[in-house]
Amino acid sequence: MDAESSTLQLSSPVQYLPGVGASRAERLLKLGVRTAQDVLFLFPRDYEFPAPTTNLDALSEGVSASLVGEIIDAELVTRNPGKSIFSALVENESGVIRILFFNQSFRAEQLTLGCQVMVSGTPKLNGLRMEMVHPKVTVLDLHDQVPQPLILPIYPLTDGIKQADLRRLSGQLVAELAGELTEVMPASFRELCAKKLRKRGLWKADHPLVDIEVALRQLHWPESEPQLKMAHTRLVFQELLVMQLALAMRRRKLTTELRAPPLPSSALIDARIIQRFPFELTADQKQVVAELRQDMARQFPMNRMLQGDVGSGKTIVAVYAMMLAVANQYQAVMMAPTEVLARQHYATLSRMLSSSRVRVGLLCGSLTTSERRELVEAVAAGEIDLIVGTQALIYGQLEFNRLGLCVIDEQHKFGVAQRVALRSGGVDPHYLVMSATPIPRSVAMTLFGDVDLSTLRNSPPGRVKVNTYLARDGWKERWWEFVRQRLNEGRQAYVVAPRVENKDSSPEDGEDVSSVEAVVVELRQTQLKDYQVGLLHGRMPNEEKQAIMQAFSDGELDVLVSTTVIEVGIDVPNATIMTILGAQRFGLAQLHQLRGRVCRGAHGGHVCVFTDGDQPPEENERLKTFEQTQDGFELAEADFVMRGPGDLLGRQQSGLPPMRIADLSRDLELLQVARQLAQQMIDEDPDLTDPELAELKGQVIRRYGKRLSLGDVA
Ligand code: ADP
Ligand code: MG
Repeated sequence: MDAESSTLQLSSPVQYLPGVGASRAERLLKLGVRTAQDVLFLFPRDYEFPAPTTNLDALSEGVSASLVGEIIDAELVTRNPGKSIFSALVENESGVIRILFFNQSFRAEQLTLGCQVMVSGTPKLNGLRMEMVHPKVTVLDLHDQVPQPLILPIYPLTDGIKQADLRRLSGQLVAELAGELTEVMPASFRELCAKKLRKRGLWKADHPLVDIEVALRQLHWPESEPQLKMAHTRLVFQELLVMQLALAMRRRKLTTELRAPPLPSSALIDARIIQRFPFELTADQKQVVAELRQDMARQFPMNRMLQGDVGSGKTIVAVYAMMLAVANQYQAVMMAPTEVLARQHYATLSRMLSSSRVRVGLLCGSLTTSERRELVEAVAAGEIDLIVGTQALIYGQLEFNRLGLCVIDEQHKFGVAQRVALRSGGVDPHYLVMSATPIPRSVAMTLFGDVDLSTLRNSPPGRVKVNTYLARDGWKERWWEFVRQRLNEGRQAYVVAPRVENKDSSPEDGEDVSSVEAVVVELRQTQLKDYQVGLLHGRMPNEEKQAIMQAFSDGELDVLVSTTVIEVGIDVPNATIMTILGAQRFGLAQLHQLRGRVCRGAHGGHVCVFTDGDQPPEENERLKTFEQTQDGFELAEADFVMRGPGDLLGRQQSGLPPMRIADLSRDLELLQVARQLAQQMIDEDPDLTDPELAELKGQVIRRYGKRLSLGDVA
């Protein structure tokens, strides 16, 4: 070992490693690599599995093969400047093969006498000897023992950094430094983890999880596939466990530090609430109500998300919770994303409570100044029990007398890091957040890791199936004829387009994008000239939107041409037909939300999907899935798999750092075990004071402490 490498440490900057230098070091920075340790944690993104090393006698011309041997002869012949031939002989027990490189004089430095190499390529017979021209060569001499390196790591690359550079670097550093890493999972703990994983068939070996040294060696330079698998499992599990520990600590913190008014229920209260409902709750709804009752009786805030497909009946569950708050002499507030929706909720609540003493208020943009002042004062004085409004209006405007519950409707983006701040009298209210965008389970366990999740799986009775069609060639006439027939029968229809006006389609799009303004003009002149066609989009003033929605709801308009503003929660049971234009521009979740608008009435719903541009809908994977799947949960999973977790777990949305080696859609089972183990550990030892686990805790705090404000646990 020379002087340089004997001082090699984990913290050594890569710049000073042999063969790196300042300019490569700068490039490596793009891969997040600054120190030797970073190289160890630059995980291969994939592996190459060359054909098994072949006995030289078994080589046949034209059939690619790999073999391991020693360089026993090497010669560089330079003719004109820049023209060279490098030739070397590689020998093993079974014989000798020649390898040749043209104009790659650097090979002379790389492949010196005595080097152990693996060469892969296609042999050709030259005279009596096999030859490979420009084979792939891996120098193996940096390993303590030459393993059978049948599996080669493939690293993520960046400009100016070649696969060979990283292999060389990792080969050296793994060999010299893997043993110096701090083990955050002591042996006894690795045994415990192995036991948990074994139960689920996720760890087959009869020994504990491999230690960090073995894991890193085998991850970078695996000796065999099973070894690689074990290394991978250990590292993925560690990453997931660290994340889940952070989330469990945070959950714990929220339940021990925050105070909320206990809002217990009783058989009597339950009966009084239920008696006001116009229908019997479904089994799913009853289940969720039971969960809410349990949560709300506690003296720390409920933090629950209710997810349920469009039309699954979430509102009534929220109404139950609100009435429970009122029964305990507390106020409840319900926030909706749009005024239209807020009004709808207000109407529902007012109807159900019309003959009671419960006072309901609506805070909306169209109140006059004095009406608003009156309402705000009444809320502060405790004269109003239930307040409905949009989030924007409720935040900052209202002082509550005794706020016990806060319901947030149609909240799709509710990350861990985000917590709504509405307090009154030094206590936090209970929170119920509702979303119609089903969250894949793995995301629910991460993004929403500190939130309890309730699900409405089955819709209330009377829900109709929506027929979904992808418009194929020549469908236009047929479809509009169908729409006219339905309109003549008294139904109503939506037409949805991605843009408001044409001119905002950017020229580089290179295609026409359907806009509601153009569509409404066209339909009024052609296909739907005998019908009342209205226009709705987000840029219209509030009152106008309100008036249009009302007109559609009252049946004065037959057709509503709209952007996705109708996506959220609007309920017009008589509207059963929907045409979606430019559908390739919508996400699956969004399409599904849109479809949910036409599944409410007694008449079956119909959705037809058209695309802009050249690609017909049936060639679009996403749209095909949309046609075939009605279940929002299935769609969410499909979407997750198609797009990868990136979108959902994007940094801004989740507030969590990206995963380095775990893949949340692939590693769902490991995630479940990690979550359960983390919860158990934090239940038993909330601050992870076990000295054995000090390093693990350190990792949790380093990675998540700031983001999840776990500071005081540190
Ligand atoms: P979403 O989950 O999309 O918010 P809603 O709460 O608006 O759904 O419910 C959709 C429709 O189903 C409403 O018209 C509501 O009155 C009705 N509904 C909800 N629960 C039941 C039930 N248990 N039985 C019958 N109808 C129900
Ligand atoms: Mg709703």
